[in-house]
Amino acid sequence: MTTLPQSYEKLVAVKPSDNLREACEVQTVDLEMPKPGDVLVKTYYSGVNAADYMMALGRYVSPTPPPFDLGAESVGEVVAVGDGVEDVAVGDKVLSIGDGGFREFFTMKARRAIKIPQALPEVVSLGVSGLTASIALEKTGAMTSGETVLVTAAAGGTGNLAVQLAKIAGNTVIGSCGNEEKVDFLKAIGCDRPINYREEKVGSVLKNEFGDGVDIVFEGVGGAMFDTAVKSLGIGGRLIVIGAISEYENGPEAVTRPRIGFSLIGKSASIRGFWLMHFFKEIPEHMGKLLSLVQAGKLTLNADEMTFKGAVGALDALDYMYAGQNIGKVVVDFT
Ligand code: NAP
Repeated sequence: MTTLPQSYEKLVAVKPSDNLREACEVQTVDLEMPKPGDVLVKTYYSGVNAADYMMALGRYVSPTPPPFDLGAESVGEVVAVGDGVEDVAVGDKVLSIGDGGFREFFTMKARRAIKIPQALPEVVSLGVSGLTASIALEKTGAMTSGETVLVTAAAGGTGNLAVQLAKIAGNTVIGSCGNEEKVDFLKAIGCDRPINYREEKVGSVLKNEFGDGVDIVFEGVGGAMFDTAVKSLGIGGRLIVIGAISEYENGPEAVTRPRIGFSLIGKSASIRGFWLMHFFKEIPEHMGKLLSLVQAGKLTLNADEMTFKGAVGALDALDYMYAGQNIGKVVVDFT
């Protein structure tokens, strides 16, 4: 049996600031035993999401006033259970979405714990990233098969799962990324046409090789990539806006151009936003599908190989992600 410490470390957003390291601090707090219906989990690995940076700075959609704990998802091992908990036991490995984060321990409602065979780094990517890819493509993008799907930031934590799910559904997939190592990774996971945007113009490739336009865009980059994606839509095309990482550090870019409605009418195209927070009811069904695909060997989970340790490591992990260096999901190691 694991001996539990009396206190643990966590990363907390303490004040709004434009500087990540001024906005957050590592705090040491007492470890409390779980209340009835709750379980206490020892974090093994936590997922890093582009939105963590925006949340820490107090700039994400619907900002929370500080102080608040940072991070959104973890895998770990249950180390104590509260009264009345029957379906989760000490020793179980679990994935949490919304309760875990950049902290060595966390408590959660037992009924929200998703049991997993092993608490490995790559399994974290099933959480925010896997669910976003699965739910957004199906619900917001109305993905079918035999279509052309463009995924931006395709080699990232969320993008690589969107690429694979679009392929599994029987589509032709184009993926944008920022270096040749990522091109090789995208080929390995089945992407039909990786585009290194530093070497090739995404707009020209789409015009020359996909002249009828794309049916679905899974878009998380924003800025000029968003404009290119809008132009690339074919008749009946659907652009899913999941984020705009290139506009996070300096805020949304102000642009002046003819209103976008005109370009959509001409193609009966649509642009729809997606935020996972609005789709919690879909989680059990989509998590079940994702776990089955992994078990069947059809979906591979990919964590970036760089190691970041502990609550303070989450800040370096965010710098690394924002420098565009990651392949797959960025995780923080709490083992
Ligand atoms: P990620 O893709 O693992 O990492 C970010 C990647 O963005 C980088 O590796 C980089 O790859 C790419 N990027 C392109 N232009 C960039 C720029 N100017 N600055 C920094 N990075 C740039 O991150 P993620 O957490 O999975 O998030 C990807 C996008 O999905 C974000 O916009 C995020 O907010 C969004 N998202 C939204 C939801 C939702 O519920 N709406 C959920 C999950 C994620 P390349 O250079 O290779 O393109």
